[in-house]
Amino acid sequence: MKTIGLLGGMSWESTVTYYQLLNRGIAEKLGGLHSAKILLHSFDFGEVARLQKAQAWDAAAELLSEAGTALERAGADMLLICTNTMHLVAPQVEQSLKIPLLHIADAAGAALRQAGVSKVGLLGTRFTMEHPFYKDRLAAHFGLDVVVPDETARKEVHDIIYTELCKGIVAEPSRRRFCQVIDELASVGAEAILLGCTEIGLLVEQPHTRLQLFDTTYLHASAAIELALQ
Ligand code: GLU
Repeated sequence: MKTIGLLGGMSWESTVTYYQLLNRGIAEKLGGLHSAKILLHSFDFGEVARLQKAQAWDAAAELLSEAGTALERAGADMLLICTNTMHLVAPQVEQSLKIPLLHIADAAGAALRQAGVSKVGLLGTRFTMEHPFYKDRLAAHFGLDVVVPDETARKEVHDIIYTELCKGIVAEPSRRRFCQVIDELASVGAEAILLGCTEIGLLVEQPHTRLQLFDTTYLHASAAIELALQ
């Protein structure tokens, strides 16, 4: 079994989910007392969020690259950046590594294509919904048409992620608002919803909406399990 390197803590609320999914997934595949081989670097999310807010992407890229190469030296066979947003600097991190970087949008794109989805509604931070790094990759590599909420809804979704979900706060009014936004995306043709933020699955689950949900945390962890056992 290969060792999975994780850049986590962004936020740690979703890194917990990764840790559970990876260990449960390996146990399911191998049985007995097997569990995943994991090396985790968990950042102080306050420091990362400060760089995001300042749009200091070069400094953020350096921070993640340093931690990624440290995990590589420690024996990781692959690297996962456990957040959609920070894939904004994935090209720089990937360049610093010899081991493969499992891109979260590739795990999502492959699952969406396999399910026959062609138009998908994307929910995530404003960075993920508004910068080209994520939508363009889904379009270019998987031929997906990606729609995002309007500006007011994007701001609300973003704020709920940072002020609630990244602090472990799961609130019913926010769930209702997310479901409204999902309905709005359906009304402009979205056939499915991509939870393009690793904490959204803590708030919105399949029973809450009629549109099919694709959760990047789950899909990213599943891709790692598959590679770890190859
Ligand atoms: N975990 C989130 C994501 O998947 C948001 C936190 C962050 O900005 O890294 O985008």
